[in-house]
Amino acid sequence: MEKGTINIQTENIFPIIKKFLYSDTEIFVRELVSNAVDATQKLKTIAAAGEYKGSVENLKVEVILDKENKTITIRDNGIGMTSEEVHKYINEIAFSGATEFAEKYKDKDANSIIGHFGLGFYSAFMVSDKVQIQTLSHKEGSKAVQWESDGSPEYTIGEIEKETRGTDIILFVGDDSTEFLEEARLSTILNKYCKFLPVDIVFGEKSEFIEDPTGEKDEEGNVKKIEVKVPNIINNTSPAWIKKPADLTKEDYKSFYHELYPYTDEPLFHIHLNVDYPFDLTGILYFPKLKANVEVQKNKIQLYSNQVFITDSVENIVPEFLTLLHGVIDSPDIPLNVSRSYLQSDSNVRKISTYITKKVADKLAQMFKKDRADFEQKWDDIKIFVQYGILSDSKFEEKANKFNLFKDTEGKYFTADEYKELVKDNQTDKNDKLVYLYTHDVEAHHSIIQSAKEKGYNVLVMDSPLDSHMITKLEQSLNVSFARLDADTIDKLITKDEEIPSKLSKEEEEKLQPVFEINVDKDKFTVQFESLSETEKPVLVTQSEFIRRMKEQQALGGGMQMMGDFPEMFNLVINSNHPLISKIMNEKDDKKKESLAKQAIDLALLSNGMLKGSKLTDFINRSLNLID
Ligand code: ADP
Repeated sequence: MEKGTINIQTENIFPIIKKFLYSDTEIFVRELVSNAVDATQKLKTIAAAGEYKGSVENLKVEVILDKENKTITIRDNGIGMTSEEVHKYINEIAFSGATEFAEKYKDKDANSIIGHFGLGFYSAFMVSDKVQIQTLSHKEGSKAVQWESDGSPEYTIGEIEKETRGTDIILFVGDDSTEFLEEARLSTILNKYCKFLPVDIVFGEKSEFIEDPTGEKDEEGNVKKIEVKVPNIINNTSPAWIKKPADLTKEDYKSFYHELYPYTDEPLFHIHLNVDYPFDLTGILYFPKLKANVEVQKNKIQLYSNQVFITDSVENIVPEFLTLLHGVIDSPDIPLNVSRSYLQSDSNVRKISTYITKKVADKLAQMFKKDRADFEQKWDDIKIFVQYGILSDSKFEEKANKFNLFKDTEGKYFTADEYKELVKDNQTDKNDKLVYLYTHDVEAHHSIIQSAKEKGYNVLVMDSPLDSHMITKLEQSLNVSFARLDADTIDKLITKDEEIPSKLSKEEEEKLQPVFEINVDKDKFTVQFESLSETEKPVLVTQSEFIRRMKEQQALGGGMQMMGDFPEMFNLVINSNHPLISKIMNEKDDKKKESLAKQAIDLALLSNGMLKGSKLTDFINRSLNLID
C-alpha cells in the first residue's frame, strides 16, 4: 500500500460541504450512480469506435446494501480506472472539483442552488466515514487497484485482486447516516433520481413466478409455477421522452404519464418537445385535468439532465403559467449549479422558456384548427390555463387570441372575432361601444338570462376565477365593455331608442317610494323608479358594474385596500309601468299593500339568486298566505 496526500488548497473542505448539503445528503446516490452509468456509457462509446474488443453486453449498475457491515456498494461493469487514472481523476479532479465547489458556495443558501450538481464523487463522504474504490480498467493487462480515504486529503492506494471489469465504490456509512442503510429509504431515493437512467440499475432481488422447468403439473393439469429470485431492476431505461413521437402511440403517452404520476386522472393531451439547436432539450408536457385547487397541481414538471432527475421545482425555467402543466423536461443545457435568481437572467434559460411557450401556443392553435369540436369539448378544462397564459405572458397572448374562446349560456363557443360579428348589430351602448353581456352564475341568474334572451341579446358565461381579470384585459384589447346582467336594467346597458312614457306621476312615485324603502335594508338598497316596458319585471335588483368589480378585486387582494371597504350596494329598480306596481299604488288595505310590495321585492331578489335564509322562509310563508 502506498500512502499519499492530495495537494489541495483548503485543508478541510468537508465541514463546508457537509453544512452546505445538510438537507440534501441523499444526492450522493444520484452522483455515484450517475458516475457509474457514465462509466458504462463510455465503454459503449469506446467499443463502438473499435477501441475495445471485449463484450459490452449486460452493462449495468448494482446498488448493494450490506446492513451488517454498514456498507453501500455502487458497482458498475464500465470502463474502470487504472492506477494512474485514479490518481488523476479522483485525487486531482474529484477533490479539486469539490474544493472549488465548496469555495464557490460557502456563503450561499443551499436551497437557492438548483440540483447541487458539480459535487460528484466527493459527495460519497457526505454519508461515509471511509470510502473505498476497487477498480479494474477495461484496458488490456491492467491491474486492479484499491483506493481508500476518509475524506481528508490523506489516502492509500495499492494493488488488489479483482477479476471483473469496472468499479466498486464502497461506502462505509457513518453513524449519523444510518438512515441510508434502511432498504426502504434507499429504494425511495433510487426511485426519485434513477428512475429513467439509460442503463439497468439493480437494487436487490425480487420474486418472479415461472413455469416449473421440470414440467411438473398441478391437479388441474397445468404446469406448476415456482418462485425464483431475479435481479430487481428499478428503472425504465428508455422513457417515452427520448423516443421519436412517430414511434409512440396515444396509449404510450398515457402510460408514461401514469408512470410519472401514479393514481391520477388521464391527462387531456400532450406536447412532445424536441430541439437540438440552439440548445438541447427533449421532454413531454401534459395538460392535466385541472381541479378546483390549482395550487396543489402546480410544480409537477420534473427536470432531468441526460435522464438524471434534478428537481421538480422548475419555477424559473418555465414561465409561471406553464407550471400548471405536468411532465418532464430534459436538458443538459440548463445550468444546474447556479442560484435560482441567476437562472432567470441566463440566456439559455430564457430561450428555453420562450421555446416552450411557443410550442404550447402552437399546439393549442393546431388542435383548434384541426378539430374544433374536440377543442371545444376540452375548453372548460384548459380555459384556466389559457387565461393564465394570456394574463401573464404577452407572447402567449398574441397567439392565444386565435383560440381563446367565449362560451355563451347556450353552450356555444366563439372566438373573439366571431363573437363580435354575432352581437355587433344588436348590442351597443349610447357611445356606440359594443356591450358584451355576461353572467357569472347561469343557475342563479336563470330568470334575468331569460329576459335578456327574449330581448334578443346574447349572454356569455364568465364563471372562472380568472374571468374578472380577463374581462379587464379584454375590454382593453377588444375595445368593448363587459356588463354583468345584473349591473343595470338591460335597457340601460344597451341603448334603446324609444323612451317609454311613465304611467306614474312624480307625486305618485314619491308616495310609493317609502312603501318599498321600509321593506329593505336602507344601507344596502337605493330605491329608484324607472319607466320600463310593461313586460319587464315589476322590481329589479341591480348592482353597478364598477362597484362590483372594485369589491371583487378587493376580495382578491388587488391593492384597493387603501380605499377602505366598499359597502355592498344595490339598486332596487321599480318598473313604474308594471301592472303590479299600479296595483300596489291603488291598494287601500295597508297590510295588503306592504305584503304585495314585499312580494315584488322578494321576487326580484329571487331572480338574482339573492333570496336566502330567513328571508326565503318569510317569502314562502307569505306566498302560501297569498294563495289562500
Ligand atoms: P465528474 O463526474 O463531474 O467528472 P466526479 O467527481 O464525480 O466528477 O468524478 C471525477 C472523475 O472520476 C470522473 O470524471 C471519472 O473520470 C472518474 N470516475 C468517477 N466514478 C467513476 C466510475 N464509477 N468509473 C470510472 N470512472 C469514474
